[in-house]
Amino acid sequence: MNKVTKFETVNLHGRDVTLRLCFNRRARHISLRVDEKWGGVDLILPGRNSRTEGLEFAHEKSLWILRQLDALPARVPFVDGAVIPILGTDHVVRHRPGARGFVWLSGNEIHVAGAEPHMPRRVTDWLKKYAREEIRKRADLGARSVGRKISRLSVRDTRSRWGSCSEDGHLSFSWRLILAPETVLDYVVAHEVAHLAELNHGGRFWKLVDQLCPGNKVPRYWLKRHGATLHRYG
Ligand SMILES: [Zn+2]
Repeated sequence: MNKVTKFETVNLHGRDVTLRLCFNRRARHISLRVDEKWGGVDLILPGRNSRTEGLEFAHEKSLWILRQLDALPARVPFVDGAVIPILGTDHVVRHRPGARGFVWLSGNEIHVAGAEPHMPRRVTDWLKKYAREEIRKRADLGARSVGRKISRLSVRDTRSRWGSCSEDGHLSFSWRLILAPETVLDYVVAHEVAHLAELNHGGRFWKLVDQLCPGNKVPRYWLKRHGATLHRYG
């Protein structure tokens, strides 16, 4: 592949900053670029072995990087009034200090009980749980249709990959997929489920993906183009 990306956190003037390392063989020099979609700075590297030099370059340009980050559109923290897409539909976070329970969904609102400082944690936990349920349903259905078993399913905050499948049938997903349109979640689950049968990206693999998730060109394109925006939430 021509382009590979990887997230890496560096400390610039006492601030932890996550850079997206973009290895691109066609790039001629090391350079920096602001990407509004994922809300961060890309470090463009001409090849695999330029990582160390690239990070040195980022340190030299640290003041520029910090200035760019401060000028970027704000992140979306999980506080009262925040708008969060769930399976592609916007939902508003509402603080319900007097209410019982923790987090519940009502129409297009996410209600959060309890003290305000706990809201971000509660919303995150709830979204993770919701993501796990939605992924589980789809993965079980898919696994049955390809006649394979899932040994374990985990949902985590992965930075570099939306999903993975190990040789022993362990599927792993990013909980942030719940913030993407539903077809995107469908596609990523289908992709990893197909790996239960084909641990490669060959013709037979893609045929399986097409069977499990017809019309997957659109969600694949969405992920490429907008996937990084999912990291702005929380
Ligand atoms: Zn794959």
